[in-house]
Amino acid sequence: MLGVINKAFPVRVWKAGGAFETLVQTILSQNTNDRNSEAAMRKLRKHYKITPRTLAKTRASRLIPYIRQAGLYRSKAPRIIETSRIIDERYGGSLTKVLDQPYKQAKEELMTLPGVGPKTADILLAFVAKNPVIPIDTHIARVTKRLGIARSKANYEEIRTSLEALIPPRDRVRDHLSIIAFGRAICKAPRPRCSICPVNKSCPSSIVRHEINRIPRQQLFLVNGHSHGDGSLLADRSNKRRHTLLCRSYSGRKDNYTRRDS
Ligand code: SF4
Repeated sequence: MLGVINKAFPVRVWKAGGAFETLVQTILSQNTNDRNSEAAMRKLRKHYKITPRTLAKTRASRLIPYIRQAGLYRSKAPRIIETSRIIDERYGGSLTKVLDQPYKQAKEELMTLPGVGPKTADILLAFVAKNPVIPIDTHIARVTKRLGIARSKANYEEIRTSLEALIPPRDRVRDHLSIIAFGRAICKAPRPRCSICPVNKSCPSSIVRHEINRIPRQQLFLVNGHSHGDGSLLADRSNKRRHTLLCRSYSGRKDNYTRRDS
């Protein structure tokens, strides 16, 4: 499925700027879209030199007018300032030594900075330090769960490791971008566009209805351990192939199942 998504949504991997600039950009991008965070970053660049020392010296009230468009500016401004101060004082203004550490160590250290959670740390580690890691954003989390790659209640690290287990290290950053593009355009949050989705035949959460009613109800049974927010996965007893799965449609009607054959 991931190969199909990648072919349908080819992406060019963007080149990250410096570590600190990428960090500020990523903090600004939290809980908003690219358009707003990029606009805020442009304004910030016009008025400030993006270095830890410069931003550490400013005040939140001065920063806010430039980053307002990124939303949550009352919390983002002090976080950027405090993170800048720590990077300046603790690391002499450079994150190079932190990013050069092994992945786990570097991530733990980055996450001690205000405003840096697992996703922000992974973005730096993937795009700046070139670690073969997949940062998990809201689109990737949703798509991965709907595709049945991760449990519906999986946390950040579970989603990341489930996905990474399926993608060779060299393709991970590319696939990160490709799944985001797919999630934005097709597997949207409120209304997934299953009817035009290139993987609707193999997606256990697809709402495209197939001829499930042709299978007698007695032949349907729950597959142990597989459960999705959208409905339980079922398998056809008559078909020995484990990957022939059926699931309830979003409508929740018991007589309305979706079949997938892969
Ligand atoms: S079939 Fe629907 S739920 Fe499944 S990946 Fe495609 S759009 Fe998302």
